[in-house]
Amino acid sequence: MRDTLVLNASFEPLSTVTLNRAVVLILQDKAVVEHAHPGLRMRAADLDLPVPRVIRLCRYVRVPFRRRAPWSRRGVLVRDRHRCAYCGRRATTVDHVVPRSQGGADSWLNTVASCALDNHRKADRTPEQAGMPLLREPFEPTPADAMLLTLGREDLEALPDWLAQPAA
Ligand SMILES: [Zn+2]
Repeated sequence: MRDTLVLNASFEPLSTVTLNRAVVLILQDKAVVEHAHPGLRMRAADLDLPVPRVIRLCRYVRVPFRRRAPWSRRGVLVRDRHRCAYCGRRATTVDHVVPRSQGGADSWLNTVASCALDNHRKADRTPEQAGMPLLREPFEPTPADAMLLTLGREDLEALPDWLAQPAA
């Protein structure tokens, strides 16, 4: 079962929780459902609830520090909107700008979405060495955007319009 996205009272994405945890927060009146799976309901003895995709805390939670966005391949593909950084066509792979064989890291600033053809063509070379300039520079998403990036693509596309989409 997919996790539920938790928004702060200020509507800023805060974290994800399990569906069970989300339901507990709702039943304790600590959160409200902002967006639910269409047509799905949870029914138990005295419970009839929409299945929440996004809940919002009723009280504002102060976040003590800015978390760094955890890097992930899926996050890079979503950040780059599945567009190849070299040709702009549909990307299904993640390319290391500076190859790992040359010390390149698994990081937001060193990885871009790439089509399989360009990834293969670039091989273990930098864009300069391969003569393949980047169409855009990779960037580090904000922690709030990164929270959205942890959702599956399907869930991401189902999010309501008012919830900010990750910048691209
Ligand atoms: Zn390409």
